Amino acid sequence: MRKCIRFVGFTMVAVSALLLWTLASPISAQAKKLTVVTSTTDMASLAQEVGGDKVAVESIAKGYQDPHFVEAKPSFLLKLRQADLLVVVGLQLEIGWLPPLITQSGNPRIQVGASGYLDASQFTEILEIPQGTVTRAEGDVHPLGNPHYWLDPDNGRRIAKGIAAKLGELDPADTGYFQERFQDFDKRLSTAEQKWEAEMKPFHGRKVVTYHNSFPNFAKHFGLNVIGYVEPRPGIPPTPSHTIELIGLMKRENCKVILVEPYFDLKTPNSIARETGGKVVQYLPSVGGEKDVTDYFKLFDYDIALLTQAFQATQ
Ligand SMILES: [Zn+2]
Repeated sequence: MRKCIRFVGFTMVAVSALLLWTLASPISAQAKKLTVVTSTTDMASLAQEVGGDKVAVESIAKGYQDPHFVEAKPSFLLKLRQADLLVVVGLQLEIGWLPPLITQSGNPRIQVGASGYLDASQFTEILEIPQGTVTRAEGDVHPLGNPHYWLDPDNGRRIAKGIAAKLGELDPADTGYFQERFQDFDKRLSTAEQKWEAEMKPFHGRKVVTYHNSFPNFAKHFGLNVIGYVEPRPGIPPTPSHTIELIGLMKRENCKVILVEPYFDLKTPNSIARETGGKVVQYLPSVGGEKDVTDYFKLFDYDIALLTQAFQATQ
């Protein structure tokens, strides 16, 4: 009997040890691979650029989803539970869906303020920061400034630099690796920027309307002029009176291009295009908005090709 207890005891210890080993192994076996979870695909692409094969990166939102309104799924919790680093866009972009998931994940590494929580907005140039007190009371989903800042390649560079520094902090042995990856990304981005700027140059000053106010950083970088939005305020669906005003404005300003993010209904933009003789262009605000747009470079390649075609067609 005693022997039996001892045996059971031994087995329990062995089982516990095995369990511990199993639990620990995803970390120890991949000691060199940090698990990075990002709220959006653009952050994932930039993290992948600088993290290389020392990171496993996954985005929660898909590139064809509206990042303001993502439907939370239980699978998101599993991802967050395993994360060593969570990269968010911030400025309340994810406020409608991410904060409860972070809390519920029970992962102390990625809680707000912990070393594995990184708000990328701190590195970037933020446009449209409101003056005075702001609330979301009127439904405006940009109360802290425009959160679509990744659409300026210079901000992409700053985000990548910030992520590289954070990865080095979490995995000091590979700091040099992450820095080299950043330098290489920086170089490739500069080359790409020269090409993009040359392609966009003939269209400097061209006027566009966008459905949602997700384009100011892109417009600033490439010298475009956003004169209005299909939404009366960011996050508020179109109203007939606002649409009529917008049509009048576009006619007065001779604006012919209406950019629409892939997650919005085309009914109102199409009717605006009919009234103004304009053209609706479904541009992509994020990596993964289309199957072939698999990284940060391809995102600009894709959008710039679309825009230059649309501008040529509406000379
Ligand atoms: Zn927005």
